[in-house]
Amino acid sequence: MAMVRPMSTLPGARRKLELFSPQTLARIGEFEVATAQDVKAAVEAARKAQPAWAALPFAKRAEYIQRAMQILLQKQDEYIEIVLRETGKARSEAIMMEVYACLDVMHYYSKRAEKILKPRKLKLHGVMSLLKKASVIYKPRGVVGVISPWNGPVILALNPTIQALMAGNTVVLKPSEVTPFSGKIVYDMLAEAGIPSGVMNIVLGDGETGAALTKADVDKIAFTGSVATGRKVAMACAEKLIPCTLELGGKDPMIVCEDADLDIAAAGAVVGSLMNTGHYCCGTERIYVVDSVADAFLEKVVERVKQMRQGDQGEYDVGAVFWEKQMDIIEAHMVDAVKKGAKVLIGGKRNAKLKGLYFEPTVITDLTHDMDIIREETFGPIVAILRVKDEEEALRMANDTRFGLGANVWSRDSEKASALACRIDSGSACVNDMTMTFGVPEAPFGGRKESGVGQVNGETGLRGYCHAQPIIVDRHGGKMILQHYPYTAKKDEDMKKAMQFFWGTTFGRWFS
Ligand code: NDP
Repeated sequence: MAMVRPMSTLPGARRKLELFSPQTLARIGEFEVATAQDVKAAVEAARKAQPAWAALPFAKRAEYIQRAMQILLQKQDEYIEIVLRETGKARSEAIMMEVYACLDVMHYYSKRAEKILKPRKLKLHGVMSLLKKASVIYKPRGVVGVISPWNGPVILALNPTIQALMAGNTVVLKPSEVTPFSGKIVYDMLAEAGIPSGVMNIVLGDGETGAALTKADVDKIAFTGSVATGRKVAMACAEKLIPCTLELGGKDPMIVCEDADLDIAAAGAVVGSLMNTGHYCCGTERIYVVDSVADAFLEKVVERVKQMRQGDQGEYDVGAVFWEKQMDIIEAHMVDAVKKGAKVLIGGKRNAKLKGLYFEPTVITDLTHDMDIIREETFGPIVAILRVKDEEEALRMANDTRFGLGANVWSRDSEKASALACRIDSGSACVNDMTMTFGVPEAPFGGRKESGVGQVNGETGLRGYCHAQPIIVDRHGGKMILQHYPYTAKKDEDMKKAMQFFWGTTFGRWFS
């Protein structure tokens, strides 16, 4: 059983996939898998529409995004139902992640893209400043392929799409096969907002469709997903010599210092580990707590996890596991941990009271670094706690991983905690908060080690959807070029004297 299954189709017809609800296991729909031909056609439409879209003023492009924002506000309940049907996540999480965060991103970039992408004057140094003027202009790359995962099916499709569009690119979006109709919300909102035909395109499908997009005539791929697929995308982009951003998996550590406020830290551990059923790229996956406060911390965490309501109706805190493949990984990691000596304090198994795909909110301890639950991304509703001697040991263990997405440190001394956070080999880090950098659009976001390549969000992310083209203008109408040839011994001597002056004298070094 999976949440998405192949259907039999007539010979020559497009393949079809069936979708099943993780909440009820009932069939909820089907869709056709776009072929490589379909992808090619979508990219061609995007290519054709791109020059006119790029020629629009920022304010005009922003108008479409702002209109789509109003549609999202009006239709949020309808959209939330689509997300809940495909993912089974907690309703409040759908509102926070798939509506609130989307509105914030749409408004942030539509309001600020012009300022971030306006041409910049470069201040030149030394003798160059006497000879040349320079500026940088930000030109859209062209057609951007966006490939998105199932855990944040709207926001993770929308965030790169909005940035690419505001920068003047056109987009072909390929959402996950697990959540195709949630991903399609992004297309639907923009289409209803009247965005010109060909500017925003979508291809529904599976991995083959994603692979076809990486091989099509696109100018950049913005990929969010697993390390294994990220590697394939990077290889396809290398083959074509096009840039890509890879936002990949994580295994975020949390460090609880001796002087942490344990009530707050316990709450942070529970939110960080259970939010979005643990299917959160920056979810807290390993908690290192200093031994002297470990018992008190564990008690508080267990107490909080006991209060968690898991369900499929009404108000609840922890939703379903979004699909069977993830359930298999979670269960395998639990079995491996227990076999190697871990102790389950609460939860640890499927929730037998619910019909759908539910794993009980779990607290597990006595963990070691040879366990899969510590080495691999688990992506489940599990609070995994390890005792450490002191903060230095916590830091060493936090860095003992092939991942490097986020991290968080908890202490009453935020300066000390920040200093510790700076020493973690992660793309970003938070102090006294779960890792929520992705929700701060000003902050460049991206992974180190196997957690990714490149950064998204903020100025860095938005400019990544452009080619930064420097324009250098000669201050003297190009007259110096007349002096270039012939090369003579006298000119070589003059050059040597100039070098001695610029870098061999105090005044020269100051001026240069
Ligand atoms: P996958 O890598 O399995 O899939 C991601 C996307 O790539 C999907 O749309 C998938 O299509 C598509 N795809 C599959 N095969 C290929 C291929 N050969 N070429 C191109 N595209 C392909 O990831 P998941 O969907 O399982 O997402 C969960 C992962 O995403 C976790 O590791 C999580 O940590 C990570 N993630 C990272 C984030 C970050 O910002 N760093 C944010 C959120 C999630 P299909 O699903 O249809 O097969």
